Amino acid sequence: MILDTLPEQLGANRFIDANEELSGPLDCKHYKRFAEMATLAPGARLTLRGYREPYGPAVVVGELQAEAQMTCRRCLKPVTVVLEGAIRWGIVFSESEIQGLDKDLDPILVEEGQLPLRQAIEDELVLLLPIMPTHESCNSDWILDTELVDVSEKKSPFAVLAVLKN
Ligand SMILES: [Zn+2]
Repeated sequence: MILDTLPEQLGANRFIDANEELSGPLDCKHYKRFAEMATLAPGARLTLRGYREPYGPAVVVGELQAEAQMTCRRCLKPVTVVLEGAIRWGIVFSESEIQGLDKDLDPILVEEGQLPLRQAIEDELVLLLPIMPTHESCNSDWILDTELVDVSEKKSPFAVLAVLKN
């Protein structure tokens, strides 16, 4: 099932028992907490499928693919970061079930039968953000600026100031 937009919540049991794949775009306006840290680029997508392991928990697996703009910590210019992550949610219906969950599953607490989809996606997005976003190599403008300063430094400190003023 391909959706135009991902719903805020999913009926957990129905989704898991349907065993159907769901995919849709991520709309940046639904992720306000993320937006304070990075700007989600258009084209971000999520694919999910729910199933029930025999004698095990209900599981939702999927893939998240997005790009976001952050500020490079080295040159302070925008840098695009690729956010790709595998989703492995263990669906629990009470806090006490979290203890018994496999460690490789991220617990998602369902309340009143509803899986908090957008909140869970936002948590994934935030976790995928690099702590220190930087360009692989900062862009040529920046390198050029540095070279200019280096050259003039050899002449006199005032030449450096002149370059900076220009
Ligand atoms: Zn940079």
